[in-house]
Amino acid sequence: MEYDLILRRGHVIDPSQGIDRILDIGIQKGLIAELGENLPTGPGTQQIDVSGKYVCPGLIDLHGHWYEGSCFGIDPHICLNHGVTTVVDAGTTGFVNFPEFRRNRIDTARIQVLAFIHIGCLGLPTSLVGELVDLRFARPKETAAVIEKHRDITLGVKIRQGTMTGTHGLEALDLALGAAQASGLPLMVHISTGAKTGEILGKLRHGDVVTHCFQGRGDGIFSKPTGQLLPEVTEARKRGVIFDVGHGCGSFSWETARRAFQYSFYPDTISTDLHRFCVDRWAKSMPTTMSKFLHLGMSLEDVILKSTCAPAKAINRAEQLGTLRKETIADLFVFELQEGDFEFEDTHLCIEKGQRLINPHLVVKDGEPIEPGSYPASLRELYDCDQDVFRFVEETAQETV
Ligand SMILES: [Zn+2]
Repeated sequence: MEYDLILRRGHVIDPSQGIDRILDIGIQKGLIAELGENLPTGPGTQQIDVSGKYVCPGLIDLHGHWYEGSCFGIDPHICLNHGVTTVVDAGTTGFVNFPEFRRNRIDTARIQVLAFIHIGCLGLPTSLVGELVDLRFARPKETAAVIEKHRDITLGVKIRQGTMTGTHGLEALDLALGAAQASGLPLMVHISTGAKTGEILGKLRHGDVVTHCFQGRGDGIFSKPTGQLLPEVTEARKRGVIFDVGHGCGSFSWETARRAFQYSFYPDTISTDLHRFCVDRWAKSMPTTMSKFLHLGMSLEDVILKSTCAPAKAINRAEQLGTLRKETIADLFVFELQEGDFEFEDTHLCIEKGQRLINPHLVVKDGEPIEPGSYPASLRELYDCDQDVFRFVEETAQETV
């Protein structure tokens, strides 16, 4: 067999197969062909020496916003610079604008984009007004119909519970659950302020996703008077509800994560919630977010698991994504674990110093090597009204629950 590309002597970590050692990886026709030692070269084989570096499956970011027709959206190709080869759009569009998002962005993208469809017909158009303060925007039937029509890339239904649902609370959640049930797919629920997390969790099913699990403000995973982990959280995990990080600019607290770890409550999946307001500060990237969990004491293998095969499983793509098994898509992330003093900030403006940073070295997408930084994706301009989002983060920074 002649390989198109061999990555030589990298420290391969693939939690999907329990691999943690120095290996060559042979790639042919965009697929993983072989993992082994001293793989043979042919006349047409490109070789890249990655000795001293780590190699893992291409990262999967389970929560981000990639539709630039929304004030939150950013170009998903930014993530190729970070080692992410599959991004999941967390309901930036609804049934009205998803077909256009697909046609103009998803279908032509170099990076793989999959999507949850928001129960609100326009998704998340703006930060100015909650998308479901008027419940007439929620359209279960049409949401299920657009999911069905785009079944190859749609993953389920999204809803944000909190001030963005106005006074509708669980009524809005029921509409979203109805659409998810009709599609036979998961619901992804954002938890924040103004909607009781215990009540929300009571309604969720095996495979549904709770995002922002360590947000630390408003209504979270701990009981307000006692500070104990809510019993509904433990029950939901037992039932197979998935707890996702979704860092963003308002949803990650060191204190909350540490307190959860004391209960041996770790996230199921690590994600950025990358959008226009947190790409320059706070979440920044998958490697930055992953490095924060290294700093909190999780092992490198566990951090990789929760950024590769765990999100692949959550979106029912574990056969093809988040793994280096033979015959799967050759999406890989090569990185170094840089040692030094690095500042990491949570969304409560607390800066901690960590000693290890996951630093991208090379990305392979569909078997083709890409230099990190070679996708200089531009961001939309910020307007006066956008500053309200940053002001809100500053003003509410001290709230932790
Ligand atoms: Zn989000």
